[in-house]
Amino acid sequence: MSHSFDHSSGEAPAIRTRFAPSPTGFLHIGGARTALFCWLAARASGGEFILRVEDTDRERSTAESVQAILDGLAWLELDPDAGPFYQSERMHLYRSAVARLLDEGKAYRCYCSRERLEKLREASMERGEKPRYDGHCRHLDRPPEGVEPVIRFRNPDSGTVAFRDRVRGPIAFDNRELDDLVIQRTDGTPTYNFAVVVDDLDMRINLVIRGDDHINNTPRQINLYHALGAEAPEFGHVPMILGDDGARLSKRHGAVGVMAWRELGYLPDAMVNYLARLGWSHGDREHFSRAELIELFRIEDVNRKASRFDVEKLNWLNQHYLRTAPAERVAPELDWHLRRAGLDPAAGPPAADLVKVQAERCETVVEMVQQSRPFYADFDEFDPGAAKKHLRPVAAAPLQAVRDRLVETEWTPEALGEAVRATAEALEIGMGKIGQPLRVALMGHGQSPSIDQTLWLVGRDRALARIDRALAFIAERAATSG
Ligand code: GLU
Repeated sequence: MSHSFDHSSGEAPAIRTRFAPSPTGFLHIGGARTALFCWLAARASGGEFILRVEDTDRERSTAESVQAILDGLAWLELDPDAGPFYQSERMHLYRSAVARLLDEGKAYRCYCSRERLEKLREASMERGEKPRYDGHCRHLDRPPEGVEPVIRFRNPDSGTVAFRDRVRGPIAFDNRELDDLVIQRTDGTPTYNFAVVVDDLDMRINLVIRGDDHINNTPRQINLYHALGAEAPEFGHVPMILGDDGARLSKRHGAVGVMAWRELGYLPDAMVNYLARLGWSHGDREHFSRAELIELFRIEDVNRKASRFDVEKLNWLNQHYLRTAPAERVAPELDWHLRRAGLDPAAGPPAADLVKVQAERCETVVEMVQQSRPFYADFDEFDPGAAKKHLRPVAAAPLQAVRDRLVETEWTPEALGEAVRATAEALEIGMGKIGQPLRVALMGHGQSPSIDQTLWLVGRDRALARIDRALAFIAERAATSG
């Protein structure tokens, strides 16, 4: 064997693996998890992670989808060591491999019409058999004229294809179950099974990690490797992801694209942690940093059983990362969401300050931005209910007093808290009599973090201006009602 993963002989060999998405949609949760497992396997072994875009299906592949996949990977920070390579730019490789197989009699031209194939299919269905091509064109004396042929691989007629899947263990297929696979379409483009083998060989991939929906393709691909005179790589087929109802995860279950989860306010570190645990485990531990994942991940520890997508757990992890991640990890996400909400990150407190105060109160970055709007931009008007209740003439004196004190206060939460307390004390009123009007003055409504933190985040100039605005509002209200 040219590729051996014998862990008993000391150092595990470097894994060369690849993520090979077809660009026909977003980067889905399942694809992202496959990419993560590939990335981890490569990183854990000091190997390489290659990105290959499988865009030979010209009708279904789009440039937007390629971009969406690249964006998704970049967001999760699953950076490839090589690529992206595009199959559409590698056609010469597939053509020359087809030519070689034709030359060596390991592939042949097939002229069968759609109608004939359809009849064949129906006949086998009637007999209760799996549809198989019958090898009709293997020995054609006189090919029909004017028909553009497909190229078929001459699959061995007997014997078994056996391999040890690194997730699922030993697997064997009988060659009699496999028919002669189309490897090149009439338009000259290669089919998935062929292009994938030519590329994995050319890229010297030694471990293929992919979804187990491909498991039936694997014996066909192994036969192709052998026909091309090569050993097959090893395989690790990862089980699928189910929704909470036990059906395969789909749009029905909510957001399935990773970038949709970004838009919902999840952090990439939370997502990576969550995806890793979706089918992989290490004891009963739940929290893993990237470095820990790299240290601990082994493809053999991936579950054989399908895993269920659990939003509760993702929420829990997201909040954990919001609370514990260093501010510089959260800041880029916060900036992105502020901009998305039409706010300017530079017009308010630094991300680190905001996170320190708001993380406890929020499960997602979106929630954090929703609750932080007044720290970044002026509000249009006071919430009528809150204003009616708290911006009354009795609040004018406390607001004025606290303003006078704030002008001279150092802008730290401690000093600000002290200033509000001292004002209440001097006026001999309860904290609520000053805190609530002040909060409405600063935020436009009655919900915010503690008053010292609120002042701190609003900032000196903005806080003073907003208190003035509230005082003017109270004065006007007094004038019109009285
Ligand atoms: N393009 C295939 C897919 O997206 C890749 C399968 C493989 O990794 O071989 O399903």
